[in-house]
Amino acid sequence: MSRIFEKIYVLFRMNILIFVLLAVTVIALFAYQNGLDVIEPLYLHDYPYLMAETDSADGGASAVKLSRTDSSIIVDYELKEGYAYPYVGVKIFLGDGKTRGKDLSRFDSIFVWVKPRGEGTVRLYMRGYDSTFSRPGDETSLKFNEIEFYPLEETYPAVFVPQEFRVAGWWVAQNEINVHKARVDLSNIPLIEIQTGTNAPLGYGTLEIKGLCFKGKKIEKEELATALVALWFITFFVILVIRFFDYSRERAANKKKREELEKNLRALEIEKSEYEKSSKEDPLTGCLNRAGFSSVLMREQENLQKNDSPVSFVILDIDHFKHVNDTYGHMVGDEVLVNLAKLIQSKIRNTDALVRWGGEEFVILCGDTPIQNAQFLAEKLRMAIENTQLIKQQKITCSFGIAEMIAGEDPKRLFERADKALYASKENGRNRVTSATFRHTR
Ligand code: GH3
Ligand code: MG
Ligand code: MG
Repeated sequence: MSRIFEKIYVLFRMNILIFVLLAVTVIALFAYQNGLDVIEPLYLHDYPYLMAETDSADGGASAVKLSRTDSSIIVDYELKEGYAYPYVGVKIFLGDGKTRGKDLSRFDSIFVWVKPRGEGTVRLYMRGYDSTFSRPGDETSLKFNEIEFYPLEETYPAVFVPQEFRVAGWWVAQNEINVHKARVDLSNIPLIEIQTGTNAPLGYGTLEIKGLCFKGKKIEKEELATALVALWFITFFVILVIRFFDYSRERAANKKKREELEKNLRALEIEKSEYEKSSKEDPLTGCLNRAGFSSVLMREQENLQKNDSPVSFVILDIDHFKHVNDTYGHMVGDEVLVNLAKLIQSKIRNTDALVRWGGEEFVILCGDTPIQNAQFLAEKLRMAIENTQLIKQQKITCSFGIAEMIAGEDPKRLFERADKALYASKENGRNRVTSATFRHTR
């Protein structure tokens, strides 16, 4: 249950991140669209760094007079013949007016309030300083970013975007400006010129100029886009990292669980095999019990049927065991049983099965053994028991009965025959070996 909650939490956590990301994006775009404006007006009526200019620098004869009202400057002029293109105007210096001007490239639009009281166009020069071609203090070397226009009537400003400017061709030609530098560049403008245009007629005229205004965004579109893309990338990276850690944690948890399960399984398997073993084993002597015996018997029966491999059956019973118990107690009796089993086990082959048949009766099932060999084995065991001090109190002897299995014979019959032989051993004085009378002919 808690895992489900954990999963929901993980999902939720990621979704919150994405939700926040979306919200930030929308807010940023909205703010950009509806605000974040930078507006820098340049009112000329009280601007100190400006001066009138005429074509006299180019050998012309035009005259000009500059005056100010409380909202604009008035440029009264008379255009006269002299220079090929007579003009007058006003120079507006920005920054230090020479090498360090104003960066206008970050503005989207430039407003100009100029009202002509005459005919003809007006020219606007944004003069750019660029150290690769401009010479400090030499105004002619400032780039002529220009636009020429018919001003609107009355109070409406003319609005330009930077892309509408052109660099004056004659200036490019005169200064041999290469292609890379011949384009409009408003990044460093120390001088703005507003002049009468190319087709202004000779004679008197007036320009009334209120000023300019630069409008842009606090951050540029590209910057905003880059920032947003970066934000999305970072967020998805964070999500990836979170997912990675969640995944690792989940894996670790799964691994631990699997290991625990495997451990439990191993423990269960061990328990099971121990249980199986103990269910086939006599707890006192460690020999097989009857349950263990039956599986061995089945195997040997099969061997006999299929391979005609002889199987012999040795049954032995401790002589006068009751006496041992009665004289020395059950504990000593048990000791006899344990030590006897150990002794027999040490004398028989691995393939022979020693079974505790009952109280002090044992059976040895000998595979691949004809009755003669079983007889030999029994005799060997009988002597070994007789000559071994199984307990210190007295000697122990056993009586033996032997029979060979007949193919297809009911094990009960086999057991009866062996038991009969054992009985005969007891009858004939104990501590002896008797073979069952039936002789298998092969
Ligand atoms: P015989 O030579 O005729 O076999 O004489 P016996 O005294 O061995 O006679 P019997 O086979 O009747 O006696 C079996 C005795 O074995 C009876 C019982 O007290 C004892 N006995 C059976 N199981 C155990 C056991 O697990 N521990 C001990 N100490 N004694 C056992
Ligand atoms: Mg007995
Ligand atoms: Mg006995």
